[in-house]
Amino acid sequence: MINIIAFDADDTLWHNENLYHNAKVTLTKILADYGEPDAIQAILDQTEVRNIEYYGYGIKSFALSMVEAAVDISNGEVTGAEISEVISITKNMLRAPVELEDGAEDTLRQVAKNYELMLITKGDLFEQERKIGISGIADYFLYLEVVGEKSEATYQRLLGKYDIDPAGFLMVGNSLRSDILPVLRIGGQAVYIPNEHTWFHELAGEDEIGEAEYGELERLSHLPEYLQQLK
Ligand SMILES: [Mg+2]
Repeated sequence: MINIIAFDADDTLWHNENLYHNAKVTLTKILADYGEPDAIQAILDQTEVRNIEYYGYGIKSFALSMVEAAVDISNGEVTGAEISEVISITKNMLRAPVELEDGAEDTLRQVAKNYELMLITKGDLFEQERKIGISGIADYFLYLEVVGEKSEATYQRLLGKYDIDPAGFLMVGNSLRSDILPVLRIGGQAVYIPNEHTWFHELAGEDEIGEAEYGELERLSHLPEYLQQLK
């Protein structure tokens, strides 16, 4: 029987990837003299993934990748003024309001009646804590965890920390790679809610998904009904 429901935050409870999407569009405009939008995007994508092992996730890491990509695409010709514009994009992202996904608060309110709730979000501590603080939904959660990576080891550590039986643990999120597959591998359950803006790095290949058994919902607001049927 499930007794703890854990939620991913970015692009599960609140919008996030749209900020990155808009930033990338702006970057291609700033760097228009140096290359086509597709080429700029491709170099930025490669740079971001390559840099995860150096910087981890988050907006400040993304900023360093944008600067690196700007230098590469321009063969070192990018100007100080253009780099300043890139920094401005970053600062705007860091101060952006948190916009909840449709029905997020209602869903939490309903689910919290029957389950203990945990928030597990991956990324930069400063950025994630700011968003949790201004989201208005922090009080629904008994446990709030910001982690650097969402691996099997991470979930095992969190469940161990709070003495949670994996069989009673269900994770809800928009990333097969981070929210769903590692939780299934440690004996938990998971509900996948695809989001149109999911970052390509969070998608999982068919080979990784294999025979994995998880629930899939079109919208977060369908979760209470799904949980009713589990009982
Ligand atoms: Mg997410």
